[in-house]
Amino acid sequence: MPELPEVEAWRRALDGPVSAFPIERAGPAHIATLKTFDPPLSTLEGRRLAGAERRAKRLLFPTDDGELVLLVHLMTAGRLRYLRPGEKGPKTPAFRLGFTDGAELVLTEAGSKKRAGVWLLTPEAAEAELAHLGPDALGLGAARVGEILAAHSRRLHSLLRDQRLIAGIGRAWANEILHHAKLSPFALSAELSPEEIARLAAAIDEELARGLELRERGAKDAQVYRIHDRLGEPCPDCGTPIARVDYEEHTIYYCPRCQTGGRRLTPYFGFKGRNWDEVAMASKRKTRRGKG
Ligand SMILES: [Zn+2]
Repeated sequence: MPELPEVEAWRRALDGPVSAFPIERAGPAHIATLKTFDPPLSTLEGRRLAGAERRAKRLLFPTDDGELVLLVHLMTAGRLRYLRPGEKGPKTPAFRLGFTDGAELVLTEAGSKKRAGVWLLTPEAAEAELAHLGPDALGLGAARVGEILAAHSRRLHSLLRDQRLIAGIGRAWANEILHHAKLSPFALSAELSPEEIARLAAAIDEELARGLELRERGAKDAQVYRIHDRLGEPCPDCGTPIARVDYEEHTIYYCPRCQTGGRRLTPYFGFKGRNWDEVAMASKRKTRRGKG
């Protein structure tokens, strides 16, 4: 699923083009893709978009009269393409926006499951739709990250992915961030030392910025991810084969040497053969060792 770096790179690329000309035709949209019916899509026709904005993993296209917001959530397989006038695109996109110069913004979705969504909302309704989201992950800083971690006793990988607490990070970037921070995906958020919190906050910014820069240059997954989806490949920092563990319907990738003190994680017990409490104890002992 596209996460903050991917969506932000698209936002930057779309911001100018979508606001260059007024909308001539809005739609058609696949019945499963369009999530709202009032106001109808045709309300957009004749209006101009103010540009592209982003909230968490969603793209927002407000009209320049301030009356409407087109909200797009691409989910896992949705992709937005801007087609210049005359440029060939897909025959039946899930959603289409035509501009008066002949350019088009099209949403396509690979596979038969239609999960990506388009909402046409008033600014107030858009705000309500997004109200559950936590602060944007980029630029949070150690103090804010520390507050969020302390307020919730959660496994780090799970907490980082929770859009209500920190918005914009999914499983791929959680893997990259935790490896960069040299922290276990199963470490408990409320038990991190100030030094570990600072490391995590820095890793969030550094990794998302690295991802954004690469995505803006058009880099593919293989050039972007160092840990995610790299089972058995050598850790870029220490050479240990990258391991994985399934947790909460997600596959977590990590380096057993850099992140978990040589231990392998198991789905239900954290470290092999231990229960959750022992995991917490082990993480505390590790912290003390690290300080000494
Ligand atoms: Zn390593």
